[in-house]
Amino acid sequence: MDISHILNHLGEEREEYYGAVTPPVFQTSNFCFKNTADMREKLKKELETPFYTRGFNPTVSILRKKIAALEEAEDALVFSSGSAAAAAAVMSVVKAGDHVVCVEKPYSWTNNLLTKYLSKYGVASTFVNGTELVNFEKAIQPNTKLIYLESPNSLTFEMQDIAGVAAIAKSKNICTIIDNSYNSPINQRPITLGIDIVLHSATKYLNGHSDVVAGVVCGTKERIMKMMEEEFMTIGSIISPQDASLILRGLRTLEIRVNRSAESAEKILEFLEKHPKIKHINYPFSKTNPQLQLAKRQMKQGGGLLSFVLNIEKAEQAEKFCDSLKRFLMAVSWGGYESLVLPVCALGASGNNDSTLPWNLVRLYIGLEDPDLLIEDLKQALEEM
Ligand SMILES: *Cc1c(COP(=O)(O)O)cnc(C)c1O
Repeated sequence: MDISHILNHLGEEREEYYGAVTPPVFQTSNFCFKNTADMREKLKKELETPFYTRGFNPTVSILRKKIAALEEAEDALVFSSGSAAAAAAVMSVVKAGDHVVCVEKPYSWTNNLLTKYLSKYGVASTFVNGTELVNFEKAIQPNTKLIYLESPNSLTFEMQDIAGVAAIAKSKNICTIIDNSYNSPINQRPITLGIDIVLHSATKYLNGHSDVVAGVVCGTKERIMKMMEEEFMTIGSIISPQDASLILRGLRTLEIRVNRSAESAEKILEFLEKHPKIKHINYPFSKTNPQLQLAKRQMKQGGGLLSFVLNIEKAEQAEKFCDSLKRFLMAVSWGGYESLVLPVCALGASGNNDSTLPWNLVRLYIGLEDPDLLIEDLKQALEEM
């Protein structure tokens, strides 16, 4: 389906709300019924009709339709955070006694979910280097029920051969989940590559304005309805209608924002590649990336996130570089309009659960500012260092 149609019109039943061009925020917890018979009937479809907002809300429903269409999925659910989305997706697949194969270095709280949380309920996990397909095959056990991917991850950008992993999983009746936040549905559609469940931190590109924390999960109607009846309704980590409305607004410009962010990142990459103070760059579409061919096969373009190792002797120089940037805000998260810098040396080993990260690694998120201004800023900060 045409992306611009999905973003601007799909799911919006304007005649239902007086022709209002922008969908109303159904800021209501409750919906009332005409009589007992009406209530009895509607209770049978509690999750598909206005009944109670923990289950169904008309504003959130529009968002679900758009997200599902963007990922070429049958249905989607929206959660109050990306972490809630990941937890619900994983818990919908595994039970006590099951085993999960997860790509190494996933998002920190996904790592926490598997290693610290689900382990308490008898779910075991093995983490594998996802750059080689054979590592997945080797890690699979008779009780493996789930393979969890994040391609690429959001700090060093290692990728997995998504179609390859999906084929291995299908042959062994194992479910696959991927965190597609880095790419957004504009740059990568994992369901078309055979993945069962796709999730996002909607806090990042989907909302794109750094004013909402949210998450989404996409899959078949059957999987999503089962997840809704069990994890979604039980744990209740829903998004508010107001926040859903803000994401609907953010989505109008999703394609434009993602493209701008990627084009600017390419320009900045070109500048950094030539700079003597940059030792190594991590970016899916970097010419020096050994996985470049894989990136070209499964992604339309890179995203706005990249990281690099500084060519320096002392940790203070990395700090000096980051502190000298004037046009990059120092913050976590990404995917908004504002460019960001993340000094890995500030995280310590606990911040990202990965003490193998080099202390002279810096991550940038390229937002919507003029890339030439950003390059000027990087140039002066590298000199200052
Ligand atoms: C931010 C992020 C998450 C978690 O999402 P929240 O909305 O912060 O809960 C998960 N995965 C990736 C790749 C992320 O960047």
